[in-house]
Amino acid sequence: MDERLNYAPCGYVSITLEGMVAEVNQTFLDMMGYRLEDVVQKHFEAMMSTANKLIFHSYFYPHINLDGHVEELFIRLKNSQGESVPFILNGRKFEREGQERLDCVLVQMGKRIDYEMELRMANKQIEKAYWEKDQALAELQQIHAEIERKQTELMEINAVLLELSNTDKLTGLKNRRFFQEKLEEQLMQYNHNRIPLSLFIIDIDHFKRVNDTWGHGYGDEVLFDVASILKTHAVEGETVARYGGEEFVMILPETDAEKAKAGAERLRRAVQDFSWKTGSMTISIGIITATPDADEAMLLQKADEALYASKQNGRNQVTHYEDLKLQGYSP
Ligand code: GH3
Ligand code: MG
Ligand code: MG
Repeated sequence: MDERLNYAPCGYVSITLEGMVAEVNQTFLDMMGYRLEDVVQKHFEAMMSTANKLIFHSYFYPHINLDGHVEELFIRLKNSQGESVPFILNGRKFEREGQERLDCVLVQMGKRIDYEMELRMANKQIEKAYWEKDQALAELQQIHAEIERKQTELMEINAVLLELSNTDKLTGLKNRRFFQEKLEEQLMQYNHNRIPLSLFIIDIDHFKRVNDTWGHGYGDEVLFDVASILKTHAVEGETVARYGGEEFVMILPETDAEKAKAGAERLRRAVQDFSWKTGSMTISIGIITATPDADEAMLLQKADEALYASKQNGRNQVTHYEDLKLQGYSP
């Protein structure tokens, strides 16, 4: 064999059509740890496992017979230690001295296999990282949903707490705190747009007697019933609150003095006409309609003065502060 072919940087094996090794170069022998006599005149397939023999038969022979050549066939051959060595094999049919030979060039694949292993490993790691990312994302979404649920819950609880903190327990009306905030807000609006704003202070007449005669429990019932009458008479936008004890307040936006007086009169009559267990129950009302100079304290004080006048004039009455002035009343 030509010296250069003998030591070429790839294995060279020439086999007969029957698969017997006719020639082999030194490079191949060195790669496999064989001696010349271990290989030559032996069947090429003796170096193959059953699986590789199958590949050889189903791919190598049909192609080389059909096309005259085979390219990049991946095949494993057993070396002298019995280890399986991966090769890329290129083969070509060659005629020499009337004899046909199948010349094969074999390049060892060790490095490439290592790269492929590394590649496969890296792919696996990437897949794992993706899977973990998806998992983490799903967990995060779950946590987000939980936070949203808790937030909604918290908002609902807050709304209930706010309502409770603004509500009078006995009557279910708004309490004094809410009323004061509302009055401040409405007065600010009035100062801004000057749309008439009126205020009632309502006090149950001789309520002490109810408690004294019928007991505190019944007194509570009366407070509840009066509150209900006030509530049913209030229209949207109006505020009804328990100011304290047997006193109530109402804020009436978009209500001038005349309209306020008529409204208060309807309330007074509704309480009077209610079928009370005691036979009779009345309220007195003091009204004030906001003026540009007024602040909350002044409005309340004037409404209270009007209420006082209603009481003085015999109770079960409605008095507007403006009418007090006409009557020559001076505080
Ligand atoms: P006037 O016509 O002058 O308003 O007389 P009055 O008896 O209604 O007024 P007074 O201020 O003398 O008495 C109010 C009473 O209201 C005294 C108090 O015991 C009673 N009261 C205050 N809060 C409550 C309550 O929550 N429940 C009950 N049952 N009574 C209450
Ligand atoms: Mg009172
Ligand atoms: Mg009273």
